[in-house]
Amino acid sequence: MKQPVRVAVTGAAGNISYAMLFRIASGEMLGKDQPVILQLLEITPALDALKGVVMELEDCAFPLLAGVVQTDDATVAFKDADYALLVGARPRGPGMERKDLLEANAAIFSAQGKALNEVASRDVKVLVVGNPANTNALIAQRNAPDLDPRNFTAMTRLDHNRGLAQLAEETNTTVNDIKKMIIWGNHSSTQYPDLTECTVNGKPALDQVDRDWYENSYIPSVQKRGAAIIEARGASSAASAANAAIAHMRTWALGSDENDWVSMGVYSQGEYGIAEGLIYSYPCTCSNGDWKIVEGLDTSSEFSQEKMKATEQELSEERDAVEHLLP
Ligand code: NDP
Repeated sequence: MKQPVRVAVTGAAGNISYAMLFRIASGEMLGKDQPVILQLLEITPALDALKGVVMELEDCAFPLLAGVVQTDDATVAFKDADYALLVGARPRGPGMERKDLLEANAAIFSAQGKALNEVASRDVKVLVVGNPANTNALIAQRNAPDLDPRNFTAMTRLDHNRGLAQLAEETNTTVNDIKKMIIWGNHSSTQYPDLTECTVNGKPALDQVDRDWYENSYIPSVQKRGAAIIEARGASSAASAANAAIAHMRTWALGSDENDWVSMGVYSQGEYGIAEGLIYSYPCTCSNGDWKIVEGLDTSSEFSQEKMKATEQELSEERDAVEHLLP
């Protein structure tokens, strides 16, 4: 049996974590031969609820679960962490402006970035799920100067999966028939679900769907799927978000499929003309525990340029709104 790895999860008593922790402990994220120690962080008032979740984890008697830590101290939760899933975030309250939300989360993610910098493994793989995920990831990264910026990622895998499912439905195929979907930019309604490179059964997706459907139905519906779920369910998506977080980490750790890629919010070094330092969603391949942006794609059409720039603009504005709080 391999040595256990340490997986830190924040917001561990919340809805997404409830749909995620049991699957991590059963080996679905890192493999059925990889024991894990869960290091769970919650705010102090949620520690009782967290205790209940831990009791249920114990009651599953997972053979791969080598230990559980419960704490309200980030330096305990992130100690030697190999993986960190940052799920907990401040939700938008009544009357809260976007700027207030950004600032409230800046406080949380600055503290967590500092704690990761101080105590986590130097190779820690960080995934930010808590919204605004891309900017929260940027804030954590900027507060962790001793860690490689490449260690910090934000989740757009759920948007990617939504894009696959909706295209499969339209083309009467399955998600297995679809390759090379892309989500560019922010995990928000400005994201750009792009089918330019996408294939269905090996042939260009855009030859198999109506252009009007793509531009006026598909793109907005992928962008606004989160709101549609809240309306239908009366609560935001949790199981699908948890599933995407597990898939993101699994791909990063164990590799992407040959001849395909995934979407990940990663540190921009200017690829495709995007401002350096933003956490922007790109098509990525993964191997040997590392990610790589797929380069050389033709994004020169006016349609793509406009959409890629619009979502970049939103990310720049989010960064500018918290810049005064960053080191
Ligand atoms: P959830 O577990 O449902 O969601 C957590 C975060 O994930 C939210 O910011 C949510 O954003 C975000 N998210 C990202 N993508 C998605 C998606 N596709 N669908 C739904 N959510 C998505 O929230 P809960 O309120 O149930 O739980 C949060 C927990 O975090 C609470 O237990 C709280 O105590 C804790 N918390 C912990 C902190 C810490 O550990 N230091 C700090 C702050 C909170 P959105 O709100 O936009 O849906």
